Amino acid sequence: MKICRFNTDRLGVVSGDGATIRDVSEALRSLPAIKWPARYGDHLIRHLDDLRPVIEKLLPDASPMSISDVSLECPVATPSKIIAAPVNYQKHLDEARADKGINFGNPTKTIDQYGLFIKATSSLVGPSHGVRLPDLGRRIDHEIEIAVIIGRSGRNIPREDALSYIAGYAIGLDMTIRGEEDRSWRKSFDSFSVCGPWLVTADEIADPGNLNFSLTIGSQVRQSSNTGLLVFDIPKLIEYASSAYELHPGDIIMTGTPEGVSPVDVGDEMHCTADGIGEMIVRVMAKS
Ligand code: MN
Repeated sequence: MKICRFNTDRLGVVSGDGATIRDVSEALRSLPAIKWPARYGDHLIRHLDDLRPVIEKLLPDASPMSISDVSLECPVATPSKIIAAPVNYQKHLDEARADKGINFGNPTKTIDQYGLFIKATSSLVGPSHGVRLPDLGRRIDHEIEIAVIIGRSGRNIPREDALSYIAGYAIGLDMTIRGEEDRSWRKSFDSFSVCGPWLVTADEIADPGNLNFSLTIGSQVRQSSNTGLLVFDIPKLIEYASSAYELHPGDIIMTGTPEGVSPVDVGDEMHCTADGIGEMIVRVMAKS
């Protein structure tokens, strides 16, 4: 099932071909009330398994509308954290080591030396919001990544069990200012984490270790790769992340970007695709 958030917190189900959407917001009434203090994690994702039969019951009576007529928001509203993997494709590691414009001459370590890093949750937006570039006179790059959305809490998760902790998948953009500040500064500006166009539930992705994905601007394919080329694959990333951080429902793991990272400009449209997920267009605008 492809589940989206649209038009200011409405809940939708997207057709298999990504062309139409049905409003099933009525299902949100089945969510339990939130009491203070809210638990870490996303309330919808935490209860998604319970909500699915309610959603399925509503679907036949929900009339379809064109996906082009709605505003798509991030399918996860309130993750406790966005976890991201540095240099997790060999060819991206190679380009980071070769090109001073990416790593400013600093030695680039490997993922097992870096560990993972965290992006601010306040940087998270959906595709319709677009990316807003601060006027810094600096190089700001796209990084397309497959995003894993965690479905249930866990710590010290062994890789053999890891896939059972996944609620679904989406396309992620880890927007990045190149430079020497910490990653958590350069990658957490408002709108620098895009997730969308919807969440595809894990049961629809037979093999997350074999997903083609790409990012195109204009006629230029900037990035194109396959999750089979990940240095730390998705089960390993969940094992690695949960050895340090307790994972909560809705936590997003940005699995890493392949080679081809390059600058964006105001006016660009990033056309992102991924096998089994779909496609999204994300506009680049000036920060107001
Ligand atoms: Mn990245």
